[in-house]
Amino acid sequence: MNYIDVILPLPLQKLFTYSITEAEASFLRVGMRVAVPFGKSKIYTGLVHRIHTSKPLVYEAKDIHQILDEEPIINAQQLAFWEWISSYYMCTLGDVMRAALPSAFLLESETIISKNNQKEILDEELLDDEFLVYEALQHQSSLKIQDLMNILDRKNVLPVIKRLLEKEAIHLQEEIYEKYKPKWVRYVRLHPNFSSEAALQAVLEELNRAPKQKQVVMTLFMLTAKTKKPIKVTELTEASEASSAIVKTLIDKGILEEYHIQTDRVTYSGEENEASKKLNEYQNTALKEIKESFVKHSVTLLHGVTSSGKTEIYVKLIEEALAKGKQVLYLLPEIALTTQLVTRLQNYFGEQVSVFHSKYSIHERVEVYHNLLDNSAKAQIILGARSSIFLPFSNLGLIIVDEEHEQSFKQFDPAPRYHARDSAVVLANIHKAKTLLGSATPSLESYFNAKQNKYGFVALSTRFNDVLMPEIELVDLKDKYKRKKMKGHFSDRLIEEMTETLKEGQQIILFQNRRGFSPIVECVTCGNAPQCPNCDVSLTYHQYRNQLRCHYCGYQAAMLQTCGACGSPEIDSKGFGTEQIEIEVKQLFPDHKVARMDLDTTRGKYGYEKIITSFEQQEVDILVGTQMLTKGLDFRNVNLVGIMNADNMLNFPDFRAHERSFQLMLQVSGRAGRTEKRGRVLIQTYNPYHKILQQVSTNDYASMFKEQMDERYVFKYPPVYRLIKITLKHKDYNRVNMAADWYAQSLRQVFGDFVLGPEFPPVARIRNQYHKNIIVKIPSKQSLAKTKETIIRIDNSFNAVKDFRSVRVILNVDNY
Ligand code: ADP
Ligand code: ZN
Ligand code: ZN
Repeated sequence: MNYIDVILPLPLQKLFTYSITEAEASFLRVGMRVAVPFGKSKIYTGLVHRIHTSKPLVYEAKDIHQILDEEPIINAQQLAFWEWISSYYMCTLGDVMRAALPSAFLLESETIISKNNQKEILDEELLDDEFLVYEALQHQSSLKIQDLMNILDRKNVLPVIKRLLEKEAIHLQEEIYEKYKPKWVRYVRLHPNFSSEAALQAVLEELNRAPKQKQVVMTLFMLTAKTKKPIKVTELTEASEASSAIVKTLIDKGILEEYHIQTDRVTYSGEENEASKKLNEYQNTALKEIKESFVKHSVTLLHGVTSSGKTEIYVKLIEEALAKGKQVLYLLPEIALTTQLVTRLQNYFGEQVSVFHSKYSIHERVEVYHNLLDNSAKAQIILGARSSIFLPFSNLGLIIVDEEHEQSFKQFDPAPRYHARDSAVVLANIHKAKTLLGSATPSLESYFNAKQNKYGFVALSTRFNDVLMPEIELVDLKDKYKRKKMKGHFSDRLIEEMTETLKEGQQIILFQNRRGFSPIVECVTCGNAPQCPNCDVSLTYHQYRNQLRCHYCGYQAAMLQTCGACGSPEIDSKGFGTEQIEIEVKQLFPDHKVARMDLDTTRGKYGYEKIITSFEQQEVDILVGTQMLTKGLDFRNVNLVGIMNADNMLNFPDFRAHERSFQLMLQVSGRAGRTEKRGRVLIQTYNPYHKILQQVSTNDYASMFKEQMDERYVFKYPPVYRLIKITLKHKDYNRVNMAADWYAQSLRQVFGDFVLGPEFPPVARIRNQYHKNIIVKIPSKQSLAKTKETIIRIDNSFNAVKDFRSVRVILNVDNY
């Protein structure tokens, strides 16, 4: 007998074995998908992991339903990578599969309805809603539940199906189908019957009585002569200013002919490629050093100050990799924020660049996946966010991790909780490729690795064109408030600088790390502050909608008129977010245009683009935003950056808060003065003598690194120690406490003092689930693999305790 072990997209510890026929065995290969039964009646897509002849011992192997692929959809390198992710990040292969494959590849069972052609049904026999469905089935061979909901414009459609079934008007079918359909574009051409001059003349003569139609034919003629390319129906209607009905008439008459070509929806339609820039001497030196470093080190860190021209160096390295016939992966923290970079790379590399975008549709993502699978010329350079490490590369030569310090490279939920930068290094090793990490403010991890000579290191410390680093001034808020020099949240210094900058026709960025109007709303009389009913956190006031919102679960309520506790109408708000700053700026500078960029203003596929473009084109003078502003944007005309309040970043309860604040402030400062004029940065704070602020103001990465590392040594934190965070979640407070105590105690028996907690996080309840954390610290000499084995053993015994079975346990390795 023949068997296959299959990965199912479910969090199952083990693979499942199915039996296959001789014929299937000779066809199937590792990496193909099969539809398999699972549980009582479910059908899932499984991925073949191994083909063998050993019968499973403990259960009877079921047969597969069908084979879904002709060719494997994942390759051997991917499988090796999946296995590393699964073992390193302590999750199942099924978890990895779910994250790695576009959801369109994970077929699912769904009910499909089709017309019963064996039975004659008269319209009168049907009720109105039944008739609508039945009629739709005359035009379409099958309908899904969702289609029915659309047709009937209601959710509850099962009764209709039931009635139609009873009348034997329809069939039901449990069927697996491909969700992804390549995009078909409609084209038109003159029907071949009229290809001769004479025939064409005759048609045009005939159309003299239908001038509009004649116009369409003439236009088609012209377009074809001009471009020699297939003409889309839409192009034709636009160029001839005719309706699509007229085109349809011509098709019906047999004068025009409609045809389809399957097209990519993610192609680039730009001009000819531009030559890459000539590097200056600093860039050239850096490039040379990187190449030398790659001889000895497969990973190299490029520490280049903001606007030093790192991207142009990447471009040179990409060119070299392409020349060797290799693929390149360019990882970015948040692809949506990097339209500028996409355009830049497309100008150099044209169609060879494919973008893998979280805001792209399923269809677009599948297309990129397929292009890579075919090693198509279109997919030689992949520009993408963290999940693009899962694409089917076959021949990677180089991975660039831009802004490598960014937190968003780490996935928090759901599993696999991987860090894309660290995983990229492993991926590159699988392909024997090189990894370049780039940042103006490297993570302590990478800088530490470079210091330990684990990674190569190259520095680039002059800005391109010798533009000076911006001048950074700290503004003491305590003093300003005392001396009544504040207007709202703006110090006199900030207002002065803003006025000056605007007068010179330059732009301003204002940074505040919180969205909404104010994070706390409080009754003046009794001090009550409205809390989220689902989470242990106060609600943020959003003035625009006059709403209170929870930033953890999305709960919304109307703003209170009176205090919910004492009824007093005097309600005050504390703290401030971007919305409040925007309102204040508009009052201070009523003649200037202000825009805001945060999570609330950038929803939708082109949300960011709109704001960035209008700022770039200088339709906006002042841009207020959250940390979204810090990511790699290159604005030529910004001369002033204001950081509204540095303190809430610095006081954030996390051992990385200081490192992060340093990175964030330097990154946002880096947006100022990218041309000849020296940029200015004002940082408002209650703590101007804070070490981090001093280091920011002198751009002193080395001191920051040294001091932070000292703390990490003393308090045993990464990168000196590794961390595994274990989070327990349950809706019952007592149960989560009991479970966490049990868990921590078991860990302590093995790891002693290297176990911290259990402890509630600052927001202990989210979506009605209590969270409690335990941290295991792992000294560098201790085996990580053994540590994980122990944790898994403890986790298994934990799950065997009946009372704890409903408690969710989340293992997070290298929790960032
Ligand atoms: P970084 O990524 O280090 O912040 P960029 O690569 O964005 O810096 O470069 C900053 C600016 O300088 C960009 O506008 C870029 O086009 C320009 N630039 C960088 N290198 C060159 C070069 N060699 N020739 C011309 N312009 C350059
Ligand atoms: Zn009150
Ligand atoms: Zn909430």
